[in-house]
Amino acid sequence: MHFQDIADRVSEVRQRIAEAVRRGGHGQHVTIVAVTKTHGVEAVQAAWDAGLRDVGENRVQEAVQKMDATQLPIAWHLIGHLQRNKVKAVDRFALVQSIDSDRLAQSVHEHGAARGRPVDVLVQVNVSGEATKGGFSPAELASFAERFPQLSGITVRGVMTMAPLDADARALHTVFARAREARGQLAAGAAGKHDVTELSMGMSNDYEVAVEEGATMVRLGTILFGARGHD
Ligand SMILES: *Cc1c(COP(=O)(O)O)cnc(C)c1O
Repeated sequence: MHFQDIADRVSEVRQRIAEAVRRGGHGQHVTIVAVTKTHGVEAVQAAWDAGLRDVGENRVQEAVQKMDATQLPIAWHLIGHLQRNKVKAVDRFALVQSIDSDRLAQSVHEHGAARGRPVDVLVQVNVSGEATKGGFSPAELASFAERFPQLSGITVRGVMTMAPLDADARALHTVFARAREARGQLAAGAAGKHDVTELSMGMSNDYEVAVEEGATMVRLGTILFGARGHD
């Protein structure tokens, strides 16, 4: 696999993002998180060479292997489920995007409190209610929104969501708008203790809609690096 044309792909994606920001009218800055899962560390280097500074991985072990194989000062994002017995691994990530349950929030909070520095996290919300996806349901989010300011070991930076793969444009708009509302709900609960501003949503096939709905981070794999053999 060669990654020579990634710079061109990034510039096209940036242009499409700029257009989507204009259409959506939210005026936000959008960070591209390059999702390198299943690819080697060459993909990380290629993303860096194309000007990207944020890299996402969905598995801790695979992420750590790539971290150890590069000297680049990448901001690493964990975008997949974190097992509670691997909570210490959060130390190697700039942002843990996948806080998908109360119990995991509690474990990461305890780790952050023990190390003396809060862990930056996003709260993963499952607004479409798909059983196969992790994340807080709207009802769980409501109770978490009242409780999380007491969790001193985490800093909630925002919300992450994934849309259903089969959603049409209209359904995508609905899902992403609900995630934006979820961010608002957490921001209201934060009472100034957390800067709840990030909205991580949009993948290769739906990032333009996500940006129209206010995404501040898009997580892109396939569109940058080509199709994956397996996940
Ligand atoms: C794999 C993955 C992505 C990237 O998906 P693409 O469709 O290849 O862009 C984004 N977010 C999460 C959580 C992922 O697991």
